[in-house]
Amino acid sequence: MKKINDIFKSQERTFSFELFPPKTENGYQQLLNTIDDLAVLKPDFISCTYGAGGGSRDKTFDIVEHIQKQHHIPGVAHLTCVCHTREEILNILTEIKRRGVANVLALRGDPPKDNPNWVAGPDNFKYSSELCQAIRSSFGEHFSIGVAGFPEGHLLCPDRDKDAEFLKLKVNNGADYVITQLFFNNKDYFDYVKRLRKIGVSARIIPGILPITDYNSLVRFCNLCGATISDEVKNIFEPIVNDKEKTQKAGVDFAVKQCRELLWGGAPGLHFYALNKLHPVADILKSVKS
Ligand SMILES: Cc1cc2nc3c(=O)[nH]c(=O)nc-3n(C[C@H](O)[C@H](O)[C@H](O)COP(=O)(O)OP(=O)(O)OC[C@H]3O[C@@H](n4cnc5c(N)ncnc54)[C@H](O)[C@@H]3O)c2cc1C
Repeated sequence: MKKINDIFKSQERTFSFELFPPKTENGYQQLLNTIDDLAVLKPDFISCTYGAGGGSRDKTFDIVEHIQKQHHIPGVAHLTCVCHTREEILNILTEIKRRGVANVLALRGDPPKDNPNWVAGPDNFKYSSELCQAIRSSFGEHFSIGVAGFPEGHLLCPDRDKDAEFLKLKVNNGADYVITQLFFNNKDYFDYVKRLRKIGVSARIIPGILPITDYNSLVRFCNLCGATISDEVKNIFEPIVNDKEKTQKAGVDFAVKQCRELLWGGAPGLHFYALNKLHPVADILKSVKS
């Protein structure tokens, strides 16, 4: 299966989706149907989260394998270090290599709800940069490695310059590309790219796009992940917060405008947080590509 850095050699832009492993068997079956529908849109790759929101960890790799085997689309397996020893992580990587996975998104992750005080010890990877280094030293060039980037800085490191230096370390340790946290003010993304280029990071910075479908849950989610809800978003969505239909339509319009501006400004593609649904990402992608 193609590696993401090989796709970059022949394509200036990539369009991709992120999914998560559902908690129930029924949800899993539904996701397989959604993947059938998403595959028709011919994404360059589809990634699947690991452990986020308490989803089953093993299912991540089943989903990635399914995407590759059934649809011949490169799958990207997210992998987080929290609550795993170094040895466990290396065993997982050996296993997913055996299963034909050649693309990982190397993450630190956050301590889970049922173990909120977990801290890395000597047997654990503390930062994603350490994971990148271990992947390269144990597996050479087998994996194409993506990492997470935070245009507004990370919750634990709001100093944007410092956070950019930590991002640089991930790239120096082997990461091929960056997928960003969601954001709503494109200036944050363009400033982030400038900040990284200035310190010598030349890897692709692919913007992560979250289409707005429910304003109240967006507010809750942004409080958790530290993304700012811009005044523009507040002004559009607060007055229609109780109107599902208007919110959905405004969500598509906003995302289309945001994506077009990003591409015009030189973004090397778009990575959609699809939330295991075909809509609205299908409508957004169609408009953006037309
Ligand atoms: C595109 C994307 C996909 C994601 N997918 C998942 C997923 O599948 N599962 C999941 O659980 N979570 C996921 N997350 C969330 C992510 O795991 C959390 O945001 C986590 O808190 C940070 O992970 P990281 O890999 O960026 O960590 P790191 O790069 O390790 O950074 C973590 C923090 O430490 C700081 N830091 C880094 N290096 C150093 C250093 N050497 N010294 C001091 N401080 C340092 C950074 O500035 C940052 O504040 C995703 C996030 C994004 C943007």
